[in-house]
Amino acid sequence: MKNRFWRIDRRPEGTNFAEALSLQETSLGEPAEGQVTIRNAMISMDAGTRMWLTDRTDGYQPPLELGIPMTGLVVGEIIASAHPDFAIGEWVRTFGVWGDYSQVDPVMTGAFKLDPSVTDKRAWFGPLGMNGWTALWGVETTGAAKPGETVLVSAAAGATGILAVQIAKLLGCRTVGIAGGPDKCRYLTQELGVDAAADYKAADFAAQLDAAGPFDVYFDNVGGPILDLVLTRMNHYGRVAVCGLVSDYHGDRTSPAEFDQILMRRLRVEGFFSPDFMDKGEELTQRLKTWVDAGELAMPYDVTQGLDNTLGAYEKLFTGGNVGKVIVELEQ
Ligand code: NAP
Repeated sequence: MKNRFWRIDRRPEGTNFAEALSLQETSLGEPAEGQVTIRNAMISMDAGTRMWLTDRTDGYQPPLELGIPMTGLVVGEIIASAHPDFAIGEWVRTFGVWGDYSQVDPVMTGAFKLDPSVTDKRAWFGPLGMNGWTALWGVETTGAAKPGETVLVSAAAGATGILAVQIAKLLGCRTVGIAGGPDKCRYLTQELGVDAAADYKAADFAAQLDAAGPFDVYFDNVGGPILDLVLTRMNHYGRVAVCGLVSDYHGDRTSPAEFDQILMRRLRVEGFFSPDFMDKGEELTQRLKTWVDAGELAMPYDVTQGLDNTLGAYEKLFTGGNVGKVIVELEQ
């Protein structure tokens, strides 16, 4: 059986992914003892994986080696199994490869069997997956948002941010989203019911933040200069829940120039990371599913068709070309 997959040839510069990854073809044998073969139906595009492509060794996981297939979350059907707990025909979400097929040890890669009653399988990447857990945990636990407080979210029109602003609203908070461009800001306020939005690409971004703040919780997906502007607009005893630093992932590293505001305003700044609360996944998924089933938690999907077009889909995460969850769907 032929398997096409994206191989990491070198470290990408900026968003020059076409120079760094190439589409390869290999033949795939039967799964070894303990493995399964999954026909990938969808691949999740996640901004955090950009850091895995750099050579930094002080991240939350070692860099991916050169010469291996690119790793990512996939949803697909098991078509061959040499694992007693995973049967042919079952659908799973797991860490796999950016390819037609993923051949993995399902336990090592955290394979999760999909509930067949959820008809839109894309939800397993969005509200019922890592983005959903991260958004809920970051707002409620790390951010400790309380009803009536003002919660600010950056990259608020992206997969994680869209869920974070809606969850904050569901928990009774006033919500403000930061996004790039007037269309995304309009989407947040007019379609999603976010109370205010600030366009970080606009010349008057700081004034927009002034008008929307001050803030009790900052759910930060971005880091960089936006974090500095926000630190000076936090309420005393506010919380900064550091979810991601997408402006830094290609290699630049910025430290907040306004670091002193953490003392001046007695802020709590805390990073959080979804694998750390994986054991709560079932509970978090059930809570998120209740909101999804009630139509209270929306997720737009930005879907690209075909493995060949994966790099274009991935790039959107770093150029802001997406609203909502970026997914690559594969021919079945
Ligand atoms: P996403 O939000 O769907 O896409 C990334 C968005 O970031 C883009 O749409 C873009 O929107 C914005 N962006 C990109 N570069 C930017 C820059 N330099 N300055 C400001 N905004 C920028 O992607 P995602 O996969 O959901 O990830 C969002 C964040 O969540 C990432 O930081 C990721 O690492 C983090 N995350 C963390 C965890 C965890 O466990 N801690 C888990 C999942 C995700 P604009 O048009 O608004 O620029």
